[in-house]
Amino acid sequence: MSAIANTISRRQWLAGVWNPPPTMSPEPVSQLAGQRVAVIQGRHCLAYRSLFCSTCVERCPVEGAIDVHEGIPQVVASVCTGCGVCHDVCPAPQNAVLMIATPKAPNP
Ligand code: SF4
Ligand code: SF4
Repeated sequence: MSAIANTISRRQWLAGVWNPPPTMSPEPVSQLAGQRVAVIQGRHCLAYRSLFCSTCVERCPVEGAIDVHEGIPQVVASVCTGCGVCHDVCPAPQNAVLMIATPKAPNP
């Protein structure tokens, strides 16, 4: 029997009702704050294409986490908390904000 089948009760199976276990759905980005950092992908960002957009800058709750130079936003990795707000609000057709895992500190 597969691992997935183990999570479904016979009653759920017969009723066609099943809530997938948490491991099967992407974890909300906000729960990963502190473990991730935002990276703006220029090829998807509206501001990089000379279209005005400052949504991520306006909505970022951490002062100084996004630098803007001549209208182009750039995440300051050392300040970004990884909250994911910029990712959630980015209006670009292909979300321009990538949330990547922060490098783990080496073991002592
Ligand atoms: S919200 Fe998205 S498209 Fe707009 S400036 Fe930020 S990264 Fe670029
Ligand atoms: S992840 Fe949060 S702190 Fe980091 S740049 Fe985006 S909104 Fe700001």
